[in-house]
Amino acid sequence: MLTKEQLNHFKQLIIEERDNLLKELGYLNEPSLADALNESSQGSNAYAYHIADQGTDSQEREKAYIFAARDNRYLNQLAEALERIDEGSYGICTTCNNDIEIPRLEAVLVAKQHIQCKNRKIKSSDDSTFTKEEQ
Ligand SMILES: [Zn+2]
Repeated sequence: MLTKEQLNHFKQLIIEERDNLLKELGYLNEPSLADALNESSQGSNAYAYHIADQGTDSQEREKAYIFAARDNRYLNQLAEALERIDEGSYGICTTCNNDIEIPRLEAVLVAKQHIQCKNRKIKSSDDSTFTKEEQ
């Protein structure tokens, strides 16, 4: 089980990663959103939906965000990872309930399995392609 400090650490990293990804994709342009991000990093789990509500053309933004999320599995993985942090299941192997190694989480923020389970089903794995290297 990760400590609260560790969970906050990974939450920050995941939010930064998502922010960078959204910027890369062109869905996050206003500087004010970066400020909102910093303020919301301590508690909100609704930021993904909050983005869509910013600005005057909110309907277009919402469509764009939904499109981006659907089109980018890594974005979805990051959103899921944030949900797991809020649920308290982040950092726990979904296969065997053991802790996922911290260095592994540092390398693959969206990892859902610890390294042994991961290696056991390497061919059917779904998170090895979502590392930072792919970005
Ligand atoms: Zn495991």
